[in-house]
Amino acid sequence: MEKVIIEARVNELATRAGNPHVPFLPAEIIRDAKACYDEGAAIVHYHGRTADGDPDHASAFYLETNAGIRAGSNILIHPTLGYVANDADATGRFAAVEDMMKSADTAPDFAPMDCGSVNVDWWDPQKGTYKTTDLIYKNSTGTLMHFAERIDHHGLKPYLVSWNVSFTRQIHQFLKMGVLKQPAYICFCMTDETIFAGHPGTVAGLDAHTAFLPKDFATVWTVVNYKGDLFQLTDKILREGGHISIGLGDYAYTDGARNLTNAEVIAKVVAQARALGREPASVAETKSILEMPQVRIAA
Ligand code: ZN
Repeated sequence: MEKVIIEARVNELATRAGNPHVPFLPAEIIRDAKACYDEGAAIVHYHGRTADGDPDHASAFYLETNAGIRAGSNILIHPTLGYVANDADATGRFAAVEDMMKSADTAPDFAPMDCGSVNVDWWDPQKGTYKTTDLIYKNSTGTLMHFAERIDHHGLKPYLVSWNVSFTRQIHQFLKMGVLKQPAYICFCMTDETIFAGHPGTVAGLDAHTAFLPKDFATVWTVVNYKGDLFQLTDKILREGGHISIGLGDYAYTDGARNLTNAEVIAKVVAQARALGREPASVAETKSILEMPQVRIAA
């Protein structure tokens, strides 16, 4: 079976209350990117954070972090656009990427497009109520078309996130329009425990996603379980030809007794994949599977 593309999702907006190994600052993310690469990850995804863990979407954070990751290995770089922490217009949301594209040393390989809008309020399981009541992850069609145009302009690969079937349907329309090119790399974002915007991280939740993959276009799919344990589904994903996106950003993984590091999470995925006959895809193999374009640095 095809080799498996493994992406390390090292921090998202996760706190250190659940797992103290969550990296925040550039040096910590750079260290984890290299450690995950050494274990078999081909892509690293990260969010800019302050020393206290707050979101930091200043370009300087991304320039420093990308340059450090590049210096350490050839792992493919997938930075966030800032999620709900960067609630600007389309140009503002993409501004940090425009800055990253000024040098080959800081250019990423992917930029994300979450292809729809959704309520992303945080649930408090202890109190049985919402902690927030006005968090909307807004991605208008016009905003997404702006992102797609800029991603294509820079020779990056769009990382197409689908939180539910309506997102996958918008991806399909963009493929028909030529706004997106084949093969579409689609990340099915399942959500659990403290956020309910995606499909549940269950067999039925994943089956409902894959049932709506566009059949008339080439697609490659990976799976995230945001705030849930993706290992409940990794066996199924690997057997069905999917790819894996996982890390401490999503869930405070342990081995039952001890908090795992990001690299230990990646090592666990690699061992499971190998046992099922799927070797981890190298960076070159990942580029080939996804037919990644040539990154273009502005002169
Ligand atoms: Zn993210």
